[in-house]
Amino acid sequence: MRRPTQIERLYLDFDGFFASVEQQARPRLRGRPVGVTPFAESEHTCVIACSGEAKLRGVKNVMSIAEARARCPDIILVPQSPDLYRRAHNALISEISAVIPIDAIKSIDELTCRVEAADRADPQDLGLRIKRRIADNIGPYIRCSIGFGANRQLAKMACKAGKPNGNMVWRPEDMPGPLLALQPADVPGIGGRMARRLTRAGITGMAALLATQPKQMRKLWGNVTGERLWYALHGYDLQAQPSRRGMYGHGRVLPPGHRSLDHARDASRLLLVKAARRMRRDGWNADGLWLWLQMRDGSWTRAAPLRAAQDDQAVLTALEGLWTLARARLPRTVRIIRLGVTLLDLTPAGERQLDLLLDDDRQRRRWEQATAAIDGLNRKHGRTLVSLGPWTPPPGGYAGGKISYTRIPRAEDFW
Ligand SMILES: [Mg+2]
Repeated sequence: MRRPTQIERLYLDFDGFFASVEQQARPRLRGRPVGVTPFAESEHTCVIACSGEAKLRGVKNVMSIAEARARCPDIILVPQSPDLYRRAHNALISEISAVIPIDAIKSIDELTCRVEAADRADPQDLGLRIKRRIADNIGPYIRCSIGFGANRQLAKMACKAGKPNGNMVWRPEDMPGPLLALQPADVPGIGGRMARRLTRAGITGMAALLATQPKQMRKLWGNVTGERLWYALHGYDLQAQPSRRGMYGHGRVLPPGHRSLDHARDASRLLLVKAARRMRRDGWNADGLWLWLQMRDGSWTRAAPLRAAQDDQAVLTALEGLWTLARARLPRTVRIIRLGVTLLDLTPAGERQLDLLLDDDRQRRRWEQATAAIDGLNRKHGRTLVSLGPWTPPPGGYAGGKISYTRIPRAEDFW
């Protein structure tokens, strides 16, 4: 395996992305502590993102609104604007691309690039050029942290170490110096559970983690991920593992007053149609459907099998079956706070020839044609004009375009 002797990777992560986009777009919010909430009038929910000013006052992401107000009485709460964040993401990506080609977009506010030979001597200057371009062409209220390292893992850690507004370079010749200031739990890829497992194995600090052997890391993790992490932390160039889509899902918090079984069912239908639409667009079929409901004092989850399905009729029929089970199991007065649907066990849509043998196939293909026609009409009109069954977005709207760090919504997710 190759061990680079120069900076080869850049990692960029926007600081407080949603709140800073709000501040850039709405001058009255600039310089103020801002908390983004799931919807207007959401006293009983939480702050899903907050501005740097709010962070300095002790507000954190995913903190209840009551607690955020207690810590920061003058916090300004604004309902999320997912379509604004999506447009900001696209505009920022095109500005950054004008400075350096983007290798991979990791989430709505994170991306990574290869650093070409010309920029390796002075990566800090490259970072400043990116920051200047964003400030000049988008606005100075959206700030990012940039990290440079021999590989993506180290660049990401350098990025985090430099937050906020960082421009941090971890040169191979300086390693592992900056790593030793961190704890194993600070390493992306080491969660709370793994950190506890490391502690039980006597690895209580970064020096001990770095002193392990690749085989030992593989054993601790129980798979090759641990070994890959060892090579990444020691500055080797690792090729990203080919990632396969595992699932398509959507979830959302239901507004107070819309938490009955009927409301939850209606919301779940919208979420599922949106998830299925994305799945079709990417060319997959699903063999399973999950429905999960979260109540104040517990949750309820069930799965239903599908047969390499992708059309709305097939997935909605499976969903109705799950709701029949839910109604049989849950008290009629239950209040559902959050719910989600997930299409999983995916297979490429082009591989379904075996289905010709299924007895429902002719009917199925008719439904698939109907679904394709619906997709075509909606795409043409840029909104959900046609759907199977009622289409009643809940208050707060944005059934499938809800804000998410790990998925960049497309315009059609907001229909
Ligand atoms: Mg960020």
